[in-house]
Amino acid sequence: MIKINRIEPQGFCGGVNNAIKILDKVLSNSNTKKPIYLLGNLIHNKFVMNEYKEKGVIVLDNKEKTRLELLDEIKTKGTVIFSAHGVEPKVYSKAKELGLDIIDATCPYVKVVHNKISTYINDGYQIIYIGTSKHPECEGVLGISKNINLITSIDDLNKLNINNDKIYVTNQTTLSIYDIKEIFDSILNKYPNAIIDDKICNATTIRQKAIMEQDIVDLCIIVGDPSSSNTKKLKKVSELKGIKTIMIESVKELYNYSFDNINSISISSGASTPKYLVDEVIEYINNK
Ligand code: SF4
Repeated sequence: MIKINRIEPQGFCGGVNNAIKILDKVLSNSNTKKPIYLLGNLIHNKFVMNEYKEKGVIVLDNKEKTRLELLDEIKTKGTVIFSAHGVEPKVYSKAKELGLDIIDATCPYVKVVHNKISTYINDGYQIIYIGTSKHPECEGVLGISKNINLITSIDDLNKLNINNDKIYVTNQTTLSIYDIKEIFDSILNKYPNAIIDDKICNATTIRQKAIMEQDIVDLCIIVGDPSSSNTKKLKKVSELKGIKTIMIESVKELYNYSFDNINSISISSGASTPKYLVDEVIEYINNK
């Protein structure tokens, strides 16, 4: 029998729970103006999103479009919900102009980042933001001001040329705690006066640490959506530890997987992965 280590913590993080609670409340409120639109996926998990689509929620999701552009797809006035990833200020004003009722499910951790960036910009700072281009959280931040310089790597940093002594540095909440230190150090090397404000959220930090502290196993399985940033980082951390790691959305992806020579498996999941998807994986392996 294969030995299984379910790495804890797992289940929805605080930000995802918060967003789901908000959506459930909107759905159960008879005064909610219909239709109900989700601007992008509320959280990055297609199974959860499909449940809400079945309840009549219209999910506006097109990877090629910004949140601002997605608003143009709304033809009937109703309620629009902003996802846990946050949106840029222009999205608020445009949704208002369109006469939509607005419900904001932005994660409180992301809101803190928006607020701090706005404060520093008002104080005349240039911002260096470490993030992933095209990710909705990153898009929401970059829309705050043109004084935000996105970097994803040290190569990007080397191309930066900021002529301002006042520099504030922060980051996307779901990056790898094991990658970011090197980038912070390089920034301080180039801009010694820069204020570094690490904003990787607590849920991301403790899950990555738990992966790093696990015992060595033959295989680590990360359950989560391919578009989820925190899920992808869990895989990266596990690989950094030297463990063969695969990422799957659901148990179905294991049906053709060969478990030859695999005696021990660890399992973790992203912060937007429902518990039942992990339970199904464990049940399947237990029955091998
Ligand atoms: S992973 Fe972190 S930032 Fe993202 S929703 Fe969860 S708590 Fe918020």
